[in-house]
Amino acid sequence: MESHARVVVIGGGVTGCAILYHLAKMGWRDVVLLERQELTSGSSWHAAGSLFALTSPSNAAILQKYTIGLYPELEAESGQSCGYHPVGGIHLARTEDQVMALRLLHSRGKRNGIESEFISIAEAQRIAPILKTDGIKAVLHEPLKGYCDPASVTQAYAKAARDLGAKVHRFTPVTATRQLPGGEWEVETPAGNIRCEYLVNAAGLWAREVAALAGIDLPLMPVEHHYMVTEAIPEIAAFEGEIPNISEPSGGYYCRQEGKGLLLGAYEAHCVHWSEDGTPKDFGHELLPNDISRMEENLGRAVQSMPCLESAGIKRIINGPMIFSPDLGPLLGPYPGLKNYFCACGVMSGFNQGGGIGRTLAEWMIEGEPSLDIFFWDVARFGDWAGKRFTKARTKYFYEHRTDIIYPFQEFAAGRPIRTYPIHDRVTKAGAVFGFNYGFEFPLWYARRQDSQEDRYGFNRGNWFEAVGEECRALAEQVGLLEISTFAKYEVSGPGAATWLDRLLANRLPKPGKTVLAPMLSPKGRLLGDFTVSRLAEDRFMILGSGPAQRFHMRYFESRLPGDGSVKVENLSARWCGLHIAGPKARSLLQAVAEGETGANAFPFLSVREMAVGPCPKAVVVRISFTGELGYEIYMPAEYQRSIYDELWSTGADLGLRHVGSRALLACRIEKGFASWGADLTSDYSPFESNLGRFVRLDKGDFIGREAAAADAKAGPRERLASFAIEPNGADADCFGGEAVYRDGKLAGYVTSGSYGHRTGQSLALGYVKPPFFEDGAALEVEVLGERRPARLSARSLYDPEGEKLRQ
Ligand SMILES: Cc1cc2nc3c(=O)[nH]c(=O)nc-3n(C[C@H](O)[C@H](O)[C@H](O)COP(=O)(O)OP(=O)(O)OC[C@H]3O[C@@H](n4cnc5c(N)ncnc54)[C@H](O)[C@@H]3O)c2cc1C
Repeated sequence: MESHARVVVIGGGVTGCAILYHLAKMGWRDVVLLERQELTSGSSWHAAGSLFALTSPSNAAILQKYTIGLYPELEAESGQSCGYHPVGGIHLARTEDQVMALRLLHSRGKRNGIESEFISIAEAQRIAPILKTDGIKAVLHEPLKGYCDPASVTQAYAKAARDLGAKVHRFTPVTATRQLPGGEWEVETPAGNIRCEYLVNAAGLWAREVAALAGIDLPLMPVEHHYMVTEAIPEIAAFEGEIPNISEPSGGYYCRQEGKGLLLGAYEAHCVHWSEDGTPKDFGHELLPNDISRMEENLGRAVQSMPCLESAGIKRIINGPMIFSPDLGPLLGPYPGLKNYFCACGVMSGFNQGGGIGRTLAEWMIEGEPSLDIFFWDVARFGDWAGKRFTKARTKYFYEHRTDIIYPFQEFAAGRPIRTYPIHDRVTKAGAVFGFNYGFEFPLWYARRQDSQEDRYGFNRGNWFEAVGEECRALAEQVGLLEISTFAKYEVSGPGAATWLDRLLANRLPKPGKTVLAPMLSPKGRLLGDFTVSRLAEDRFMILGSGPAQRFHMRYFESRLPGDGSVKVENLSARWCGLHIAGPKARSLLQAVAEGETGANAFPFLSVREMAVGPCPKAVVVRISFTGELGYEIYMPAEYQRSIYDELWSTGADLGLRHVGSRALLACRIEKGFASWGADLTSDYSPFESNLGRFVRLDKGDFIGREAAAADAKAGPRERLASFAIEPNGADADCFGGEAVYRDGKLAGYVTSGSYGHRTGQSLALGYVKPPFFEDGAALEVEVLGERRPARLSARSLYDPEGEKLRQ
């Protein structure tokens, strides 16, 4: 075996082989895969091989579409069949909510060119004669569905990679991994050691054990999963074509043709975890004892649509383990804090995602960043708070509800609460209904006396609509108090802090006492972050950003720190809390509780002060507000949050102070046209596409991404962020993201976030349209819940467009 390689991939399942193939295809030939037994010795050999592309989020759908589209190419390149059957598939809906779920799936697919169409029930029966159509209200046909042969796909990736010069060593278990002082990795095996620049953990069922070799702990938990294969079914044997895959929202099953029978897989109603404390070392091409009674509920639902299943003989039952992260999405990318240690773990749907994951990781290693935003699968989306108990509760919940409809704004209770802020009990008493943000509970809205203190979900406006309206009006007319501890807070300090930040951020740094908004760009000019940067002193900055992205951002910051100790970056997010007061009376409230100048001239918009607030001797107060109102964000060490809250609350009573949650903040920011990280802003966009161009100072000197940004500015945007005001049409629903946007009947763009704007009395959304369709005031149509509603594009903010309220 070779002693050096550029990349060592650990694990010869579909994921590892797809990564190896893409590395070699993109030009890195000095790459090696180590497999402890035969290839496919984990979950890959016994998978059902069902394929589908329509899914959420949007970029996951793009990667699945890519993976499926790759099979014919892979077959041609490797000369190895993938057993690929592009038979299409049908989604069946029996209830109005299921019909709506399919309409949304269909509408969202348009953004990525993933075809689907509603077909008649008669047509469904023609292409799938085993269907019993009683009670079926709608059928969506997805041509990209189909199936493949899992073992053949894995072998095809390996063969094509080998043909390109990559090496595959079977029966070569990795027994230790060590990072050497120079940053290289040393990988130990019984066949000798290999040194490499990049190490990839693609060890599937053993990803936890392989991670432990590098001293890290991944939030992963294996579960058991059943499917069964029937004997030949007469209707299928008599049918000339192939039956499309069949599934239904909330059905809990997937079904496809296998030979002249059917393969039926079940997300069992009672998830059973397997090997919670570690995958056995010697587990290989093995199955677990099966128990068909665990599939009973799922089978019952499938029989409703395919009665032939009831009498079909069972040829085999498979119960195999697979391993999941808390949200069932893969854990991809560089592990924070370890140089060049890449994860490709927890892959739940390797035959739909493997190609996309392979491409993404190869791009990440070779080009330094993936070509698509994949934060939703990034290993950095979970922090240390995602422990075993949480992982177990979440994997159980999401497995059991795998095919359930997910409603707009739906939150999931499983595994919570984990982390709470000091005022948690206070706001609970005040009626808070909580959401979940990077392990923390935070108020979404406040139930009034007449409301029940919980979310009730549906596609139409939720039970929080009226209460949120009152919260928004309180912001516009009096003053509101918001828990904003969920924002990420970083302190950057040291003699080199200013120079370092100036290179990291695209805007000019503020002067001491001032605040600016600053995008952070990747070397390719893509958005990596959008921060509020406040300068507390010449060499000390407070940076505020997206809470869920804090590990993602810390990984980036740390990878760019100079080695000389001149810059210190501290993540204060969990140790510091925040409270926000906003509304015309916010200044009076601050004046009453703070020591220091709070007048409009002494403390203007976009400035920062360190001052005593209530009993806290030194809080950081930033004069900004995402609400669009006069407002102050107050940050304090966590131990002061309760006492500041109490003082604000007792003082604010006379001013009409009201609790306000994040759903009101969403409504207000959309009225203002303020884009939010994760929803409207991701690394898919350049700042010029996202209305952040004015914060990019190409003339300030060099910074990361400057050259690419200059080229982007010259080339013009590929799409542009805009506000949409949508006519109500008597409907009781608003956008929430993903809806298709049309102009003159042509697909013009899509929505990224939406809400009713309670201050403007309009149904609103933010989204992107292609430049030819972008025109202030243009008449559009937005597909809300599958119905095209007239809308108007606005290039300006729809609430206080001059920003006078913010500046007053
Ligand atoms: C019953 C069942 C049905 C499924 N159906 C589908 C489906 O229809 N469609 C779909 O897309 N997905 C399906 N899946 C999921 C799919 O099987 C997985 O997503 C996929 O196999 C994961 O592949 P992997 O390469 O990440 O992991 P694995 O297949 O587990 O591969 C990991 C590999 O790493 C090797 N390894 C581990 N430790 C070491 C070490 N120390 N040194 C060297 N090598 C090591 C292992 O031997 C193994 O070969 C199904 C899964 C199950 C269980």
